[in-house]
Amino acid sequence: MAVTRFAPSPTGRLHVGNMRTAAINWIMARQTGGRFILRLDDTDAERSTEAFAQGIKDDMTWLGLTWDELECQSERYDRYEAERERLVSMGKLYPCYETPQELETQRNLQKARGLPPVYDRAALNLSDAERQALEAEGRRPHWRFRLGDEVVTFDDGIRGFVRFEPGHVSDPILVREDGVPTYTLASVIDDIDMGVTLVVRGEDHVANTAVQIELARALGATEPAYAHHSLLASASGDGLSKRKGGGAVADLRDDGVEPMTLMSYLARVGTSAPVEPLYDLKAMVSGFSFQNVSRNSPRYDPADLVVLNAKWLHGAPYGAVKSRVGPVDATFWLLVRGNVERAADAEDWWQVCHDVIIPVITNAAFIAEAAALLPEEPWDETTWKTWTGAVTDATGHKGKALFMPLRQALTGRSHGPELAGLLPVIGRDRAAARLAGETA
Ligand code: GLU
Repeated sequence: MAVTRFAPSPTGRLHVGNMRTAAINWIMARQTGGRFILRLDDTDAERSTEAFAQGIKDDMTWLGLTWDELECQSERYDRYEAERERLVSMGKLYPCYETPQELETQRNLQKARGLPPVYDRAALNLSDAERQALEAEGRRPHWRFRLGDEVVTFDDGIRGFVRFEPGHVSDPILVREDGVPTYTLASVIDDIDMGVTLVVRGEDHVANTAVQIELARALGATEPAYAHHSLLASASGDGLSKRKGGGAVADLRDDGVEPMTLMSYLARVGTSAPVEPLYDLKAMVSGFSFQNVSRNSPRYDPADLVVLNAKWLHGAPYGAVKSRVGPVDATFWLLVRGNVERAADAEDWWQVCHDVIIPVITNAAFIAEAAALLPEEPWDETTWKTWTGAVTDATGHKGKALFMPLRQALTGRSHGPELAGLLPVIGRDRAAARLAGETA
């Protein structure tokens, strides 16, 4: 039973790439009968907003990614402070007083000497008197976690065995000068407190993992399992970014992408299984496996989603779109679904049959002959065949020369669903009026 979490910062809108992380975490929890937590990493008070938090919840709800628990880091400062004190008392967290400029200078010097730009731990050697002197200057400490000297390894669910040598990264800052805990401290405490057993996230976080494992252990906990997936790249090869705004989930929704289209995409993109329309959520969940997840970065092309959405709709049962097709009923949906790119297009076809249109009459003499041959009601799906058979007999028109002028007169358009299906919905009175060139 996996307990997973999706932990966005509410500092922007979710894009397809973020949502893929959310979807995989959700799938893993559902696959194992576990728990899925939505956690808002909102410690950045300047950039986090309530509107972005709401947008995240709306996007996830729309997609069906329901969470069993909602957490906000901004409500958990007491916990972070308690653990900070504990780490200090264990000697694992030490106060540092360097300014950002001093640290920058230190890094530049190290680089110039060909050394890795790793914090030199000078603050570990400060005496009490030196610390007091620095504080008297008005400096406030930030707090660094003392990393160990051992190799850290873990078995990544997607990337396999990962190994980190000691000495390559700086002791991470866990509490800032203003007392605000950093992502690392808050996230590790949360994962422990919330019983998270599996962390799925983008590979941009692989480098943080060794530190997080060490910190979890220092806090007396066992770290969760980790799986890092590659990131979606835009067509130009860059990463997607919330700030740049490409691929925002809310925009896709507004453009008529169906939630199950997006789920089909997210569950399959970057795996060895084909991206195709999926209708059975249970099968989608049970069929997902880390073993199929590729380590290459998949390309995200918005055009692929447009095509997938149309394909998905062409096979979609009425129940799956009912709320987005207005007055369209089940029979009519089956009639027109093969001709839509967005669910709302079905409503246009409904209007073509039930509302006033301007007929297009290209061959008045032919249309007049056809009108005279309209069968009497009742009409059903065989009426079209009976009628056009009679029209061919009378006029000699066949194929496109028969169908196209009739389609244009009856619907005002040159393409569309089978006329055999539309004709009985249009009905005899309206069909006769349109064939007479009336706006009806
Ligand atoms: N708030 C972090 C982010 O959005 C969460 C990373 C994680 O999953 O640990 O990148």
